[in-house]
Amino acid sequence: MKIEKNIFNKNRELIAKILQESMKVPYYKKLYEKNSIDINKIKTYEDFKKFPFTTKKNCQMNISEFVSETIFNEGFDLSIYENIKDPKEKMKYTRKYKLMLYRTSGSTGMPLSIFKNFKDINKSFFLLNMYRKKIWPDIFEHPYIWIWGVNPFISKTAFGNEESFLQIDKYGYVHYLCNYNMEVFDKLLKFIVSNKIKWMVGGSSILAYFGEYIVKYANKLNLDIRYIECHSEHLFDWQKDNIEQAFGIVPRSIYASNEIQFMGATCEMGNMHIFDRNVFVELIKTSKGSYEVVATTLTHDNMPLIRYKTGDCANWLQKDCQCGLKSPAINLKQYRVNDLIKGKDGMFCENWIITDSVYFMKRENILDFGQYQVIQESIDKFIYIIRAENISQNKVEKAKLFLEDYFLNIFGYKVDIDIEIVKDIISNDSTSGKFKYFISKVK
Ligand SMILES: [Zn+2]
Repeated sequence: MKIEKNIFNKNRELIAKILQESMKVPYYKKLYEKNSIDINKIKTYEDFKKFPFTTKKNCQMNISEFVSETIFNEGFDLSIYENIKDPKEKMKYTRKYKLMLYRTSGSTGMPLSIFKNFKDINKSFFLLNMYRKKIWPDIFEHPYIWIWGVNPFISKTAFGNEESFLQIDKYGYVHYLCNYNMEVFDKLLKFIVSNKIKWMVGGSSILAYFGEYIVKYANKLNLDIRYIECHSEHLFDWQKDNIEQAFGIVPRSIYASNEIQFMGATCEMGNMHIFDRNVFVELIKTSKGSYEVVATTLTHDNMPLIRYKTGDCANWLQKDCQCGLKSPAINLKQYRVNDLIKGKDGMFCENWIITDSVYFMKRENILDFGQYQVIQESIDKFIYIIRAENISQNKVEKAKLFLEDYFLNIFGYKVDIDIEIVKDIISNDSTSGKFKYFISKVK
């Protein structure tokens, strides 16, 4: 409370500015009217606390309600967007208005899509880049690579060719890992060495698995990696160890989400410092006694989120961090609570495999549904629990075949799929009280 008050006072102007921008967003305009909130009268943190929270459910209800009028005034039309079937054409249309559609896994088991504006994205990147420069002043003069786990459909949709290493600027490359195996990692390692890559960015589990491969099977003599950044997931200690062992440096963990973007980063002491000019963070006590991260985006003029409940849990670090950074730090307690997928040979994979499978089932019109949960019963058996009404057996069979083929493509071996259709809401996890869209029972 005291910490929030201090941050509020420090960034009062930025907060006031984003509140002004939020007046152009239909959802907030209506919300303020309904609750008789006059944003011009918000002077203190006490005033600010009168704003109702925004939940993921609010955002799921209507995507266009959260887009600023400025975007629509420029001619963007949601109905035109929705009627475009070809994914490439869809992307072209959004890019014309400098927009990008982000899909999130949706921690309530309901996928969430939101638009972002290029200018807002760049503003959010600014603080992350400052952080990188603080750690290594010359960082932007060295080649780097982003390594992302995506499925082959996404890779093809985005780039439409077989080339898996894409140059994005003078020094940067993107690599889409469509499956996890020795051959793929071998190719990646060779690319990193021959292009003299000095820093890497990627999902925690992919980087950890790549690190394990290097330690076990590869000759790393020519590797010279100076900086590693883990995104998308919580960085577990064992993953940190794998990465450190392989590359000889401690990886940094970035706290981010698709809705909010870059929220913080770990310092050399391992504490997560908040990018307080990107996001105003409040920790709000939940009914279970823990503290939930509630975020107000400060750089997203075209799609601001005010007091957005992230579902992540954290505590403030009460004393000043020894690293010397001035921004407040948190201990993240719960962050992306879902399990990792376990594959053969001790392999761990990120959850994109699950969320993408759901996305493609919907996009290809194979099966449409609301809430879902996937359980990995064993290495080669997955159960999809799907909440829907009136689905024919024929559609279920079609979905089963689609999923079997989908997993075969990614893993290189066959898995069994069961689909259970349910009518009731799928409940939260009994221990954490949170919803898990993916549960692994494999030990
Ligand atoms: Zn620190």
